[in-house]
Amino acid sequence: MNYLSTRGESPVQRFGDVLLAGVAADGGLFVPEAWPSLTGSEIAAFKDRPYTDVAYAILKSFVGDFCSGEELSDDINSAYTGFDAPEIAPLVEIGRGRYLLELFHGPTLAFKDIAMQLLARLFVRALKRRGSPATVLAATSGDTGSAAIAALGGLEGVQLFILHPHGRVTETQRRQMTCSQHANVHNLAIEGSFDDAQALVKALFADKPFAQRVKLTAVNSINFLRIAAQAVYYFTAAAKIPGAPVFVVPTGNFGDVFAGEAAMRMGLAAERLVVAANANDIIVRALNNGVYEPGPLQRTLSPSMDIQVASNFERALYEASGRDVAFIRVAMAEFRNNPRLHIPPRLLGSLQARYAAFRTDDLETLAVIRTVYRETGKIVDPHTAVALAGALKFGAPADVPVVTLATAHPAKFPDAIEAALGFRPAVPLRLKGLFEQPEKLVVVEASLPLVRAHIEARVAHHES
Ligand SMILES: *Cc1c(COP(=O)(O)O)cnc(C)c1O
Repeated sequence: MNYLSTRGESPVQRFGDVLLAGVAADGGLFVPEAWPSLTGSEIAAFKDRPYTDVAYAILKSFVGDFCSGEELSDDINSAYTGFDAPEIAPLVEIGRGRYLLELFHGPTLAFKDIAMQLLARLFVRALKRRGSPATVLAATSGDTGSAAIAALGGLEGVQLFILHPHGRVTETQRRQMTCSQHANVHNLAIEGSFDDAQALVKALFADKPFAQRVKLTAVNSINFLRIAAQAVYYFTAAAKIPGAPVFVVPTGNFGDVFAGEAAMRMGLAAERLVVAANANDIIVRALNNGVYEPGPLQRTLSPSMDIQVASNFERALYEASGRDVAFIRVAMAEFRNNPRLHIPPRLLGSLQARYAAFRTDDLETLAVIRTVYRETGKIVDPHTAVALAGALKFGAPADVPVVTLATAHPAKFPDAIEAALGFRPAVPLRLKGLFEQPEKLVVVEASLPLVRAHIEARVAHHES
């Protein structure tokens, strides 16, 4: 499988390079040259197969000749042995034709584990082959950081730098990152918002001499493997229910919901993808009004979706434009100078045929947590609640199945649960002990030279 850049100015790449580079040399995002396609009967046959078999069937063509089938299968099996649900991504019926797809059974209790655990294993293979160490850099609004640390902490040949917005992740999220005792894990608490942290990461990648010196690689949601690995659960879920479902996806960086588009482009029958956002509603405004324009960042009860620029939206624009790289290149260059992109009507029409989008504020989020608890006895986390609110707003006909992605375990957000229900959720085994452990982090100003110097010093220290 060959990979292209959404901006059309990078040479064609193979899977191993795509995996390690994260982002294309021209600043664009990697996409497969052609989407692999599965037939309806192949997809239907997933119904009775274990998750790992489906993952293999989906990922084999993306990985190509990067490794043998046996190696891929080993990596998939080992990635998911640590999950605490045998189905990996259980589909739970919460009402007639209404389902939760539980994606939080991995080591850090959020859906990002599903892709990150596999990414780490393939990463090790790619690094061994390349024969040189790597510096992994990611900005996080909470869950990416802990998932990356759980997957990459302690790996030989990797130094991992995670930038999170200081004071803007929950204590549980922070401790899941800062209590890692691995020497290769470096937590930088940035004095600013998630978007400030992400802007720093982008600037560091754009600094070519620096990026080459430290062998910088990205594991955030723009890494194509994460999209591919997340496409898998759309297939396992749809195969278990009759009819083409609506998928409702709590959305920040647009990675998870774009994985749904990827699944559809591979042949999955889905009625619609519903983008559910919190008060940070750039995508909702873009899809409804055709203007993609960041607003002021708002802190919400669902911090993993507190973003204003949704990086993976570029992939959706690319596909909706009929892979018009000239359009994407110009649009993204203009957006950098003046962050206000008008989506041409035909392109918008094509996006709207696939996506619907709704915004839900904190008060509604709390109300949904209460209602779901009253009606089903289930405690849902605030991100999942935003999605359930989006599902209600979409209002699918009764005969259309609706699958809402449950992206985090409620115990990660005890304050929000207490605000909604008046009590704190039970602490699962995985989080026990976290509050007694020492934390390791440095607080850094949101300054490019300071962050760069910090990373270089740590990398040099570990090389010597
Ligand atoms: C990251 C995250 C999201 C948003 O996913 P994107 O791929 O960034 O759209 C939603 N919910 C939770 C719990 C997350 O950690």
